[in-house]
Amino acid sequence: MLIDAHAHLDKYEGDLNEALQQIRTHYVFTIAVAMDVPSYKRSLEIGDECDLVLPTFGIHPRRAPEYVDRLSELSTLIEQSPAIGEVGLDFHWVKDSSQYPAQLKVLEYFLAAAREQNKMVNLHTKGAERKILDLLEHYQIQRAIVHWYSGPMDILRALVQFGAYFTVGVEVSYSETIRAIAREIPDHRLLTETDNPGGLKWLKGALGMPKDIEGVVDAIADVRKSSSEMVARMVHANFLQLIENDPWLKATRALLSRS
Ligand SMILES: [Zn+2]
Repeated sequence: MLIDAHAHLDKYEGDLNEALQQIRTHYVFTIAVAMDVPSYKRSLEIGDECDLVLPTFGIHPRRAPEYVDRLSELSTLIEQSPAIGEVGLDFHWVKDSSQYPAQLKVLEYFLAAAREQNKMVNLHTKGAERKILDLLEHYQIQRAIVHWYSGPMDILRALVQFGAYFTVGVEVSYSETIRAIAREIPDHRLLTETDNPGGLKWLKGALGMPKDIEGVVDAIADVRKSSSEMVARMVHANFLQLIENDPWLKATRALLSRS
């Protein structure tokens, strides 16, 4: 089974059936992260259609200003969600620094809940890698997936030291920086993602589809002088390791252990 640890299935609209078909036929376990409340509700409906899809609730840093003054309204959804994501900080694409305090406040609300409820988190760290590391340490988040990391190598190593896992995605086929990062991540912390459907669209103007995860695995194998088979096995084992004692993901563990 392949692992897509970060995708936005709620954004597929008319292509959703084709996407779910590919998830089933290519056997891609997929974490469907949310951007905001409507996005999570849509992901829940999609999760009902396919047991390979795990919907998780988060507020994306770009949506943080809309939610910062009504965080208590989110607590029920956070409690219901088996993991947290997408959450994080974006000090790179979001140029308006007056939004950063809202991003921080929302992220800290989720991290405190993740800590309290012992949940895995799926993180966006763009341009704020150091701050994310500080917050993970502060909130003692032991199970973190850092999505599409593109920051400095010293912070990458510090995050590895801390215990974080990293998803490498479609950009590994297009960027030397990402290829260097894909080489640097230790064997036992490597995961894969597509950030579908937008990831490939952002890079190539083409709609990202679930089977693109196979190209990601191939490209990682190339970078790490390994085989696609080995990388796929390693990622699968790593994901199982990450959720090993997760009280919320017993069903996921059973599903992945069968494959
Ligand atoms: Zn994302």
